[in-house]
Amino acid sequence: MSDKILVIGEMRDGTLRNVSFEAIAAAKKIDDQAEIVGVVLGDEDLEAQATEMIYYGADRAVALKNEKLKLYTPEGYSQALMRVIEKEAPAGIVMGHTAAGKDLTPKIASKLGTGLISDVTEIESDGDQPVFIRPIYSGKAFEKKVITDGITFVTIRPNNIAALKADSSRTGDVLVEDVEITDLRTVIKDVIRKASEGVDLSEASVIVSGGRGVKSADGFKPLYELAEVLGGAVGASRGACDADYCDYSLQIGQTGKVVTPDLYIAVGISGAIQHLAGMSNSKVIVAINKDPEANIFNVADYGIVGDLFEVIPLLIEEIKEI
Ligand code: FAD
Repeated sequence: MSDKILVIGEMRDGTLRNVSFEAIAAAKKIDDQAEIVGVVLGDEDLEAQATEMIYYGADRAVALKNEKLKLYTPEGYSQALMRVIEKEAPAGIVMGHTAAGKDLTPKIASKLGTGLISDVTEIESDGDQPVFIRPIYSGKAFEKKVITDGITFVTIRPNNIAALKADSSRTGDVLVEDVEITDLRTVIKDVIRKASEGVDLSEASVIVSGGRGVKSADGFKPLYELAEVLGGAVGASRGACDADYCDYSLQIGQTGKVVTPDLYIAVGISGAIQHLAGMSNSKVIVAINKDPEANIFNVADYGIVGDLFEVIPLLIEEIKEI
């Protein structure tokens, strides 16, 4: 592969999301000789964020600035990125497989007339050629893909390819550039987020997830407590969301979020195939269920057969003593 890979950083509330740094590590796996160029976008001086891309392994960084980039729009971001892609003529582009990544990258790929390998969880090497591994059939199988022609354009699933350790002694050029954006057909005035507590679900390394077995909104309280002592986030099955025990923003699965934490604790969740699609690639899975025949035990590394309302307080007590 040739000489340059662009890594598109993603910001939330002015801070780069961890997947941006994972994307840099992915770019290095694609070609460890390539020049890695970090790209950040926004409406203000993003020098600090661009420099952070360098600490995590980028060789240089470009910050694209325009007031129309304050809030994400596929049109504004794709216009800005097309300008930098045309200028840099990269051999590869990497971005996180996040909501914005899923929205933006197909648009850019079609403008470039190139292919896109999405939702990559692992990158191997076959001689000189990177081999991209991605889950298919809701995580029941994996396919390996290679790119034979054109730009190597990939999105990576968060929490799968480890970021490199930040090194604040690393240096590289940072270019802050005012980028031209023509009038947008859609303008986002404001984003009103639902109040969410604690750690972001898609980037959490520990998730405690509740199902219909939790029985009520109040039944989620011990799960929040367990998540807090573990420094994790709370998720849910669709069963729990449908029953109005919690908000749909917590739903994990085929029609919810796809997560890959280091530790996933499934509490009162039966393990329907649609739920497994969102969490079965978690590194360690613990299931707590009173039914020893529950399907969730087929994917669990550790299983506790018992009543969640008895097991969780004991777990919290034990963990607090560590
Ligand atoms: P249940 O299947 O009712 O399981 C509850 C579990 O709790 C049982 O195993 C029971 O033994 C256990 N339990 C009860 N009381 C206790 C207790 N006191 N202590 C311990 N354990 C207890 N589901 C998703 O989760 N995510 C999705 O994205 C999703 N997408 C879907 C898309 C489609 C098109 C369809 C058709 C379905 C989808 N579903 C999804 C729904 C899915 O099929 C299941 O219905 C749902 O996952 C079941 O949720 P549950 O495991 O919480 O509930």
